[in-house]
Amino acid sequence: MTVSTSQIKLFIHAASDAINDNAEEVTELDKAIGDGDHVTNLQRGLATLDALAGSLDELDWSTAFQKMGMSVMSTVGGASGSLYGTLFIAMGKAMKGKDMSLQSMADAFGQGVEAMKQRGRSDVGEKTMLDVLIPVANALREAAGQAQALPEVLATLNRVAGLGCESTRDMLPTKGRASFLGERAIGCIDAGARTGQLMIAAISGVLGEPTNYSGLS
Ligand code: ADP
Ligand code: MG
Repeated sequence: MTVSTSQIKLFIHAASDAINDNAEEVTELDKAIGDGDHVTNLQRGLATLDALAGSLDELDWSTAFQKMGMSVMSTVGGASGSLYGTLFIAMGKAMKGKDMSLQSMADAFGQGVEAMKQRGRSDVGEKTMLDVLIPVANALREAAGQAQALPEVLATLNRVAGLGCESTRDMLPTKGRASFLGERAIGCIDAGARTGQLMIAAISGVLGEPTNYSGLS
């Protein structure tokens, strides 16, 4: 069995559960240095993807990611909507003509995160979701290059995501709404970094079930 687009629903459900289970904590983070709507934005996006997932079953990964990106882009407001929409659209382009494997996923995710950097005009160290997603993309590429076994890869990605999230606490925000607060935002974790970490943990959890990942080795 390989990881197929028919499993997208599983990933969406796991990500939704993770966001819902931690909604209060994330909203507190976002209220402190943002405008408090980050959870609602993500929930809207995940509900849209859930509704779309049934129609992705028979598609290749390239087409599925592109459709996911377009629907996120058109239904989710805020910075996170356009950034995650950009991620999926770029991943769709990168997966063109490719089967899912650890290497193709690492390449596609790397290109997706690169597109987010351009879209947000931002990079690591600016107290955003990219402080989780960039190190995760780098670690994934490295792991794929070394052909590591999936359980090891997932453990590494979760460790890196946790460190990335925590690293935003002491950063001065230079992008997004938090940047208006300047130094007053120091001491608070970025909400987008936390939800990025939560969704990576959720997706790893699904892939960590042995029946779900044999095609990704
Ligand atoms: P908005 O800030 O427009 O209300 P959300 O609340 O949904 O959108 O998302 C806020 C999150 O988006 C922030 O916590 C941060 O992680 C991320 N973010 C905001 N601006 C940028 C940017 N320019 N580049 C990367 N990430 C950003
Ligand atoms: Mg917001």
